[in-house]
Amino acid sequence: MLLIQGVKKGFHVGGNRIPILDIPRWDVGRGEKIAIIGPSGSGKSTLLHIISGILRADEGEVHIDGQALHRMTEPARDSFRASRIGYILQDFHLIPSLSARQNVEIVMPAQMGAAERRKRIDHWFERVGLGDRSRHLPSQLSRGQQQRVAIIRALVNEPPIVLADEPTGSLDWETADEVTDLLLELCREEQHTLIVVTHDLNMANRFPRRVHIGEINQISGVKRLAESREERAI
Ligand code: ADP
Ligand code: MG
Repeated sequence: MLLIQGVKKGFHVGGNRIPILDIPRWDVGRGEKIAIIGPSGSGKSTLLHIISGILRADEGEVHIDGQALHRMTEPARDSFRASRIGYILQDFHLIPSLSARQNVEIVMPAQMGAAERRKRIDHWFERVGLGDRSRHLPSQLSRGQQQRVAIIRALVNEPPIVLADEPTGSLDWETADEVTDLLLELCREEQHTLIVVTHDLNMANRFPRRVHIGEINQISGVKRLAESREERAI
């Protein structure tokens, strides 16, 4: 499903290149549910940005769902992401002026008939326990409810791969557990490949496969800090 090979990524700051990722090889099978754990600043978000094609690696290969992402232009990566990847973020990113169901509807294919869209949306809101909340504005929903809407938006077009960046980061622990279980359950039912990055061990422990970013990425935070100090000293 996903194969990363020889990927390197760095950011240029003040004339220096700070290496962030160096991944010799990492692969994920179809339908796997993986939590990547690691401290803040260890490159977790950057890794998801590269997997989703938001960022391009400086070198190396990213194969995903049968496509060579590293060979695509930016517009091709954008359309690949829109059709094949579901993305869930810590802060939900719902559009405040649209109702919960409108936030979902805007990502659905334009050619789908209105009746079919309505039916699917009703089904999803029922499924996540928000059947009576779909016409609320995001500001009229709790944070846990907003994250459920963001989960529907990520899954409604049945993407083969779902990426989540600290999806429980701004929820209290009880709500975080509920949202984690819901996400795992929905992805299990639909056979999605799910990759979550988090520094929440409680969340990670609910996943069948856990991996520390240090096992994937050869650049540890400590090493990177030392290198950037060396660069400054030169
Ligand atoms: P994490 O998600 O694990 O907290 P990130 O992937 O967001 O880590 O960031 C990894 C490192 O890369 C951090 O040290 C961060 O400051 C740096 N970084 C991220 N994006 C940029 C950028 N656009 N320019 C410069 N440095 C960046
Ligand atoms: Mg991050």
